[in-house]
Amino acid sequence: MPSPSPNPLSRIPAVDKVLVALAKVGGLPPLPQPLVTDLVRREIAAMRQRVQAGEGRVGDFEETVAFIKERIEALYRSRIHPVINGTGVCIHTNLGRSPLAPAVAEAVSQVGRHYNNLEFDLESGERGKRGGFLERCLALLCEAPAATITNNCAAALILILKHLAKGECNEVIISRGELVEIGGGFRVPEIMAVSGAKLVEVGATNKTSLEDYRRAITPRTGLILKVHRSNFYIEGFVGEPSAEELVALGAEHGLPVVEDLGSGAMVATELLAPIPHEPTAAEVLKRGVDLVCVSGDKLCGGPQAGIIAGRAEVVAGIKKEPFFRALRCDKLILAAMQETALAYLDAVATGERPDLPLLAMLAASVEDDLRPRGEALLARLGTSELFSVGLVPTIARCGGGTMPKAEIPSLALEIRPTQMKVPRLAGRLRDLPLPVVGYVEDDAFRLDLRTVFPEQDEALAAALLDVL
Ligand SMILES: *Cc1c(COP(=O)(O)O)cnc(C)c1O
Repeated sequence: MPSPSPNPLSRIPAVDKVLVALAKVGGLPPLPQPLVTDLVRREIAAMRQRVQAGEGRVGDFEETVAFIKERIEALYRSRIHPVINGTGVCIHTNLGRSPLAPAVAEAVSQVGRHYNNLEFDLESGERGKRGGFLERCLALLCEAPAATITNNCAAALILILKHLAKGECNEVIISRGELVEIGGGFRVPEIMAVSGAKLVEVGATNKTSLEDYRRAITPRTGLILKVHRSNFYIEGFVGEPSAEELVALGAEHGLPVVEDLGSGAMVATELLAPIPHEPTAAEVLKRGVDLVCVSGDKLCGGPQAGIIAGRAEVVAGIKKEPFFRALRCDKLILAAMQETALAYLDAVATGERPDLPLLAMLAASVEDDLRPRGEALLARLGTSELFSVGLVPTIARCGGGTMPKAEIPSLALEIRPTQMKVPRLAGRLRDLPLPVVGYVEDDAFRLDLRTVFPEQDEALAAALLDVL
């Protein structure tokens, strides 16, 4: 006769017993003890809850310890750390958007590790202006009278609205075709609400005329806002006034015109890769708009930031907003953006492509750059019964909600494992100390070489051989 099963709750081990057992098993990732203890407590509590709810069973002690060890390893993997991006999405929002240039990262390291002249005027020996040098560089880069920098482009837009649409004149006119949702579920109407501006929508989704804008102007209008459709496009029966027409309308009524440009191209994208032209801050300002704002870590290829450029007195006014203080960048971002801006300005003199990894990635040639690397990887991987591997043409993307229509011809390693399923291969590659992220297509695992740094090829080959 089987003995009656004991109360499963009584089989859930105590936290300290698990901790002792984990220490004995060894091989735990180097996480501080409080994190490990906290995780064990949470897992034991969750186990108790599952049992009480009648879901799940309690395994034996070794099983429980092994399960918790796995959870600790998963927690360790969840800390922010480098990964290899084989997705072919160059500005991958989930993978940290634009990678920084080594010189940019080095500047961050130097400024971060040492005291610096963040707010110190070395000439007078007195308190100085924060970010003055960078603002000069950004103004030059955007060919604007003035520029400044904030936490990100969403923050830049909020500041612009706070400054130009306030009090009695808080109405902001915007086309219904531009009420976009930008990354992370942040929607233009919600940004308006947060900033205290009152949204005045005009036109239709596909068509907005100059008259629509004109009719919406009241004594309470604060500004006319254009939002660049960076992450979607519309075509067919569409129409909108040009920036020049909006600027003329604004001038008639003494209203500022602002363009949220988002994607932040600083050079002619069509010269980098076989992709369309993306408007730059400089060219939009030339159309007469008062201000533009762009992201630092999209096509600009720098750190997360929002760049505001345009009329000097408006930029100065924005910097005086009390809210500016809450959204300002820290020294590390200022250092990173400074080096990024210098890379652009250096390139103006030489006429060469600015030395930034994102731009190099976009510009890489399939035949001259990617294929030789692909062939070398194939040679390194060799032949095996465990997998077949080849090179396939693919389409890479700009990503980051920029240029959704742009298709960049690219090249991928295509791997078909014979002894495991493709999702399992993908999962094991993500579990590596230097995780490898690819994608599954046509029942095979693909790694687009455009987004893998050439200096990562060896690590990638070693990872593949290890896992396969
Ligand atoms: C991406 C984007 C933003 C937001 O930029 P963040 O730097 O991510 O805050 C704002 N506006 C437009 C048009 C964008 O494309």
